Formats: sequence, structure tokens, C-alpha cells
Amino acid sequence: MKITPLDRWIKEKIGYKGKKDFKSELDNYILNKLHQNIKYVKENSIFYKNHLKNTNKISSFKDFEKIPFTTDLDIRKNPGHFLCVSPSHISRIVTLRTSGTTGENKRIFFTKEDQELTIDFFKIGMSTLVEEKDKVLILLPGEREGSVGDLLGKALKRLGVKVYIYGPVHNSEKVLEIIKNRKINSLVGIPIQILSLSRYKKSKEEIKLKSILLSTDYASNTVIKEIEKTFNCKVFDHYGMTEMGLGGGVECEALKGYHLREADLYFEIIDPITKEKLPNGKWGEVVFTTLTRKGMPLIRYKTGDISRIINTPCLCGTYLRRLDKIIFRKKEGVLLGDIEILTIGELDDILFSINELMDFKAVVTKEEEKDCLTIYIDTKLTRYKELLVHIYNRLYEFDLIKELIKRRKLTLKIKGRMRKENYFNNGIQKRKIIDKRNK
Ligand SMILES: [Zn+2]
Repeated sequence: MKITPLDRWIKEKIGYKGKKDFKSELDNYILNKLHQNIKYVKENSIFYKNHLKNTNKISSFKDFEKIPFTTDLDIRKNPGHFLCVSPSHISRIVTLRTSGTTGENKRIFFTKEDQELTIDFFKIGMSTLVEEKDKVLILLPGEREGSVGDLLGKALKRLGVKVYIYGPVHNSEKVLEIIKNRKINSLVGIPIQILSLSRYKKSKEEIKLKSILLSTDYASNTVIKEIEKTFNCKVFDHYGMTEMGLGGGVECEALKGYHLREADLYFEIIDPITKEKLPNGKWGEVVFTTLTRKGMPLIRYKTGDISRIINTPCLCGTYLRRLDKIIFRKKEGVLLGDIEILTIGELDDILFSINELMDFKAVVTKEEEKDCLTIYIDTKLTRYKELLVHIYNRLYEFDLIKELIKRRKLTLKIKGRMRKENYFNNGIQKRKIIDKRNK
């Protein structure tokens, strides 16, 4: 098994000479960067000047743990106050729209140098699964300069890889044609879109892939397994969010957790209740601090993602830590019957195991004082009444839903529509359960 290329890359980035062990040199590097960064944001950002007014020198990780968190809401209130450079130095602004009632959109700013760091990470991350002369089809938005597909394309070209940027999948058959005709052997795309490709792929088609990278959204194990099986290749998962500078971590050949971009980002896991930093192995909220970002550095940013640092060394042989799969996204869970939280990941696991299902949307409403969960399904079947019943039963087998229905706290409805064309969800935002109560 090949060691994660992040190992060598991070050693180079921190100037590791091999005099001390890697762990202590990496810790020293991170501590030093944290200290410099705090000084930098206090001098340059309006928000942090005030937010960190009681913070001084950072001499230890313990000192750092006393620093207040930065939240999603802080950014939404006034993104411009996070800027550490003059607006003329910003080359890319990403606007993240919020569907909630709070209204304000979140803006994330990047300088040319910040984007260069992302390209560099993408390059090294992709070298886990492709090499020179491979042909990669990017199924992520890439039209605009600085978009994820554009940066990924630039990174792959530096690896000597042939790149085709297609964008999100609107038409599965067309994409499968391209893969066949251009002899593509690797894909990067959104989990459920790749799943749709795998469900449209007919076994006789001559498609031979060596690897697939899933990105942008949560990929449930059911989805990953099916894609692996249909395309008969390795499926790697990537963890990241715009706030991290798109890339956060990527799996190695062991396919057991994400190796992290540790020279650019410092990750902590905190207890969601006490807010204390947790030791390796414990589940909690992922918090990160940018170490090298210039335009809009973030200090102890709460992601809302629940995961843990895996306690045991990786099979690939690196010392680098691994982040486990995100088991839950705080922002994506909905409270049902005032007692149970349901997540889109749980629904994905149950529903995508049903082959006739192409896509679904989950909406929660209030009906006669009870919560009502409606699942709208897309299927290519012309007669789908039986499928609706099957889906109802599958969901009813899920303890959480069963309990709530039994206690008369939940109504479950399944509605279907037939999709003639090979249309599939082309949204690139992270999927979630839509909550329409009290709105
Ligand atoms: Zn590994």
C-alpha cells in the first residue's frame, strides 16, 4: 500500500529535517503558526481585533484552547470584517446562501495566494489516486475562474494528467458517453451524481475506471459501496468546505478516514456541550484554524460536523492523523417529535440501498400538531406504487421513525414522480432535510 502523499508534502511544507520526530516538529510548526496568525488577525481584521482583545501570546496548545470560537453567524453578520487585506487583493469571493430565516448570506474571501494553496493541496491529494497520463473527468462546477473545478483542473494539469471539466451531471447518458469515448479512467464528482451514473451504466459498456474521488457532500457507506461495485474501482472520499479553502483532507489507499491538510489547517475536536478540546478517539464537533490563509483567516471555526480523530495509526504507514467519517452535521439534522434528531445521512443510508430510487427530497412540515416527514422520490419506473410501499416499509423499519410513529408524534408520507429523462439532482450544495415548520 502506498503511503499517503500528504506525508512527504507536509514534511516539505514544515521544513522537516528529521532531527527530531515528525510529531514534535509538526507540533512546533503549528504552534508557531498559531501564534503568528493570532498576531496577524488582531492587527488586520476588524472582527478579530475585538473578538480576541483578551488574547495575547500563544506559547502552548493549552493557551490556544482558551481562545473563543468563531461561528457561522459571526461571518454572516459581517463577512467584510474578517478581511485582513485590502479588497483589491481579493481575487475570489464565494457566497454561500442560507435557506434559513436569518437571511444573511455568508461570504468567504480568497486572495490569489490563498487559491494557490488550495491548488497545491488538490495536486498532492489527487496524486493519491491518479498519475501522469491518466484522464480525469471533473463533474464539479468549473466554469468560473477560481471555482472548485477550475482549481482542481489546474492542480491536475500540474501532475501531467489530462483533464476534462464537465460540470455537475445534468445528463447521465451523455456523461457516460464522454467517459467511454475519451477513455476517461478517473472521475471527481458529487456522491449522489456519481451514484446516478452508476445506476445508468449498463454492464456491457466499456468503461474502465481506476479511481473515483467523491467530493462536496456527505457520502454514505451504502452509496460508496454501490459505486465501488458498479465501476469496479477504488472510491476515495474527500472532506472539505469552502471555509477551509475547499480542501480539508483526503483518504489514502487504506480508505479509512481522511488524512488532513495539517500544514495549512489545525484541527481540533471539541465537546459540543462543555466546548472543551477532546482527546483522540472521542467524538465531537470539528473545529479548525487556518494556518497559512492571508485574505480571510479563521480562528477556531466551528464547522457543525461531528467526527473524531482516529486513535490508531493508519495502515499506509504515515504518522499523520486521520479524521473519521462525518457522522452527523449539526446544521442538517432536524428534531422530530421534540425528542429525536434525524439526519440526511441516515435517510441516504436507508434509501439509496433501493436500486429503483434515483433521488429523493425530504421535507418536514407540521400537520395537525404532529410532525410530518414527506419523502419525495424520483424514479425511472413508470409504475411505482409498489416502490412507494417498499420505501415506506424500509423507513418504518428504522427504529427512530418507528418509535415516533408509534407514539403518534410523526406522520410519514411517501410521494413519487417518474423521471423519463436521466435527470438527476444537479444541486452542488450540501443536501439536507428541508424543515418547513414554523416558517
Ligand atoms: Zn493512510
